[in-house]
Amino acid sequence: MNYKKIFSEIDVELENFKDNGTIANYIPELSIVNPTKFGVHLTTINGKHFSLGNADEKFSIQSIAKVLSLTLAYKLESEKLWKRVGVEPSGKPFDSLIQLETNKGIPRNPLINAGALVICDILISHLKNPKKDFIAFVRTISGITTIDYCPRIVASEKSTGYRNTALVNLMKSFGNIKNDIDVVMDFYFNLCSIEMTCKELSQTFLFLATSGVLPHSKERILSKSKSKRINAIMQLCGFYDEAGEFSFKVGLPGKSGVGGGIMAIYPNKYCIAVWSPKLNKKGNSLKGIKFLELFTTKTQTSIF
Ligand code: GLU
Repeated sequence: MNYKKIFSEIDVELENFKDNGTIANYIPELSIVNPTKFGVHLTTINGKHFSLGNADEKFSIQSIAKVLSLTLAYKLESEKLWKRVGVEPSGKPFDSLIQLETNKGIPRNPLINAGALVICDILISHLKNPKKDFIAFVRTISGITTIDYCPRIVASEKSTGYRNTALVNLMKSFGNIKNDIDVVMDFYFNLCSIEMTCKELSQTFLFLATSGVLPHSKERILSKSKSKRINAIMQLCGFYDEAGEFSFKVGLPGKSGVGGGIMAIYPNKYCIAVWSPKLNKKGNSLKGIKFLELFTTKTQTSIF
């Protein structure tokens, strides 16, 4: 498939696209990103690369990193994990508090903020040096040794993280946070601060297109069953209260972040990453979703 040619065709089609989304401004450091940036990168499981636009510029991957923390926690805890977090779509915004009260501190899924905070708590209980060990895991998965946290973003999120602090406190009151709240918050903000380019993103998540095997080292990082289940969670919960619409329009499992990034998996074929910082009302990249919709339509590569 000539992905490069298809990228160019879509690029032309999107020339007059009205990107009337807004950049995430509740995190001060994200609000200063150039809103016109646009990048795409696709990596196939056989190591072929295709890119468009600003695909080699680093940006804050934000909640996309929640798939990586889930991967490590699932490896460490196996099915025990699901006692502390569910696998149901939330149908609510990413930072919503509303379901936590009725669900007695058990988040609906690991990809909303509440769920990711519980996953951070679990990782802190398992890892000797949580931040160091976690970034080492991300580097192993991606095969890229330069991937790192961004201290500027961490500080920026800490200064305005009122809702996340509320979520963690509410869950602690129900006994679903075991570690010190400040330690959990620090780990969570570091997780969200990880920076990657579109190229790095699409390489990093390729293991979910290969049923858990790292394409660059052939090491199995996750069992086939666990890889399938993470894809299933992304399909149903990867886009907050827009997961249905993403499935409807794009038809691939994936995950978005408020930095404007989206990565999506076509099993046994490729991982694609897009970046466009302006978000729709649900907190997902407006132009990014449009690009992916056109891409899976033209290539007929939806899983459905
Ligand atoms: N760091 C962001 C927050 O906690 C992540 C949100 C997102 O990307 O969905 O609000």
